[in-house]
Amino acid sequence: MTAKTTITFCSGVGTTTGANFLLETEAGKNLIDCGLVQGSKFMEEINRNVFPYDVTSIKNLFITHAHADHIGRIPKLVHDGFRGIIWSTPETRALCAVMLPDILVQMRRESGEQNIEPMYSNDDIDKAFELWKVIPYHQITTVDDFDITLLDAGHILGSTMFEFVKNGKKIVFTGDLGNSPTPLLRDTEIITDADYMVMESVYGDRNHEPKSERRAKLKRVINETIKRGGTIVIPAFSLERTQVILYELNNLIEEKEIPTIPVFLDSPLAIKVTSVYKSFSQDFNKAVQQEQREGDNIFEFPGLKFVRTAEESKDIVRHQGSKIIIAGSGMSTGGRVIHHEREFLGDPQSTILMIGYQVAGCLGRELQDGAKSVHIEGQDVAVKANVETILGYSSHKDSDHLIEFVGNTAEKLKCVWVAMGEPKSSLFLTQRLRDYIGVNAVYPKVGETVTLDM
Ligand SMILES: [Zn+2]
Repeated sequence: MTAKTTITFCSGVGTTTGANFLLETEAGKNLIDCGLVQGSKFMEEINRNVFPYDVTSIKNLFITHAHADHIGRIPKLVHDGFRGIIWSTPETRALCAVMLPDILVQMRRESGEQNIEPMYSNDDIDKAFELWKVIPYHQITTVDDFDITLLDAGHILGSTMFEFVKNGKKIVFTGDLGNSPTPLLRDTEIITDADYMVMESVYGDRNHEPKSERRAKLKRVINETIKRGGTIVIPAFSLERTQVILYELNNLIEEKEIPTIPVFLDSPLAIKVTSVYKSFSQDFNKAVQQEQREGDNIFEFPGLKFVRTAEESKDIVRHQGSKIIIAGSGMSTGGRVIHHEREFLGDPQSTILMIGYQVAGCLGRELQDGAKSVHIEGQDVAVKANVETILGYSSHKDSDHLIEFVGNTAEKLKCVWVAMGEPKSSLFLTQRLRDYIGVNAVYPKVGETVTLDM
């Protein structure tokens, strides 16, 4: 008789954020991810709720990757009494050392506006790192009654899928799955022998524009703007998207496909993340590794300037002539990009170039939807600049590629739970997985517990 293994979907179903799954066996309780629930606010009120399990009884916490919606509540877990082991790749740990303090800064800002206490402190972050152990990709590690292997998810640097094997059966937690092939990272590894799977579904109901056109479109938009004498403002997330764009600009400039103009990376966080990327250059795909062997420093090129202080940031506007400004946040919900948008939105020569999904209600989405005037920090700003979007740089698999990914293990799969997506997206993917590849796909409810035969 096999013993009992269960999964409880504590959070991170029916929404793309707040990943938190409880994997329980007779040997003890384990968590996969401990992320922030994010909506219109950076930190939704629901994050303050007590965890739906006895925090002190959790033995292990496995982290798939360093995005806030997968790591943002780790210090709260520690604050509430967790003293188990945190496991991740070395890359994810290094990125979390940059990301968690930044999450706290943003949380404090929001808490200050709402006049409430932040839900954890720097001490809790420090304590979390004392509990942290790393496992490299592909090294089989025994933790309690599981043999664990980490496989490259290809989503951001250090992102991993966790394979848990017990009694000859395998369950896979995918975390977020990369939009392979990507410019920088290796492809998502293929899994052919999973018995169970908990997967993401951010783009469960949509396909991306073809990847083959993304670099050509970037080149066209930049060259057209330079010809007009304008400035290109790129709102970009600090983790992954910024490094991808730097790499693309590096190639376009070195191959003389665009002229050498000043490129301002106006984000202290993105600068720190970029240096973590530099220190794990062995993780990049074969083509990038080859470029590095030939002596190309892929995050350095003529014209690139790192902008750290607020004063330097304000000085950018005084640079005459065409330039590229990369700044956060990626959806123009805050950060330094806002003051560049206020500066250049009224300029018909300039371009606001969006390279990621823009959620309904954010400034980026208003611009995409063709707003003639927008409200920025209490000011009406006329939109005369060109607004362009390139969606080929998404870091998530689209619907067709999610199906293909599960299809590799369809024969063996007993059940796949479709999580980490808006309800419409998860439900659509659940149905497609059943119809197209005939697997037992289930859309779980928040709080639901399922029992596995392993
Ligand atoms: Zn992610």
